Amino acid sequence: MVPKLDGYDKSLEILEDRNSYSKTDHDATFMRMKEDAMNNGQTKPGYNLQISTSKQFVTHFDLYHNPTDTLTLIPFLEGYMKSFPNHLKETTADSGYGSEENYTFLENHDITAFVKYNYFHKEQHKPLKNNAFAVQNLHYNAQDDYYVCPMGQHMTHIGSKTEQSDSGFTSYIDIYQARNCSGCPLRASCHKSKGNRTISVNHNLNRLKKKAFDLLTSEEGQRRRSRRPIEPEAVFGQIKTCMGYKRFRHFGKKKCHMDFAILAIAFNLLKLSRLKATNVLDLLRKGVFVFILCVSYRILISVKQKAKILKKVVE
Ligand code: SF4
Repeated sequence: MVPKLDGYDKSLEILEDRNSYSKTDHDATFMRMKEDAMNNGQTKPGYNLQISTSKQFVTHFDLYHNPTDTLTLIPFLEGYMKSFPNHLKETTADSGYGSEENYTFLENHDITAFVKYNYFHKEQHKPLKNNAFAVQNLHYNAQDDYYVCPMGQHMTHIGSKTEQSDSGFTSYIDIYQARNCSGCPLRASCHKSKGNRTISVNHNLNRLKKKAFDLLTSEEGQRRRSRRPIEPEAVFGQIKTCMGYKRFRHFGKKKCHMDFAILAIAFNLLKLSRLKATNVLDLLRKGVFVFILCVSYRILISVKQKAKILKKVVE
């Protein structure tokens, strides 16, 4: 019995704040992979690799045991800022990174966040945009702190609560309630609760989302959004498909870190050499083009001269 308990203690020590670990690599956590050969959603031991790129050069990377991207943004950016102090002024990321905690971090560090949130696309489409019952479409009177429901009733502030994320970030939620929903002809479409309709609102998150929305729909935001698929996604594609790097060749986080670092250096050097070669080729092509232009000009002149001489002879 005692050795078994010792075994459990040892496992808990290895686990730390995770809920699984691999017996062959204690640093690896079981997570769902994009590559699902069996098509049954089976989890496999691995690391969540995060990279940042600039003009398709890998600028920073790190490995995480958390399978969701949301919790990796802050440690990743902290690592980036350590490597490049006072360099990070703006960042672009997809909706997997748009949380109140991440937006707050970016705001506190004066980083312009072109970061989507989960409902960014959905809220621009008709079903949600035209839904008069959706919380985000209810009129809010900020001065007197109340919402107006589709029936025109005031939904007054009845309390607040706090919620904690997995990383310990605290969100403050305000609760509003309609005064009297009984007998309302819109009730069936409005809500399903037994009493009066109650809504929970995170005002800080709404403010941060509005800020992100304005940035993302600006001219610069649209340019950045169109560039995102050809930045990190393209780099991942080249690494996985063109270079065939789909698995780490080592066990343990430190070794996997070293493994990918070497690959990233090689990838960047390859990119640089190709860029230089392209530049040289471009120069050569331009040179050849100028040479062809000069030759054609000379031919044209000589033809013209010959024509003139012929004309004189005929006369
Ligand atoms: S059910 Fe209540 S909250 Fe909904 S529209 Fe009617 S009065 Fe307003």
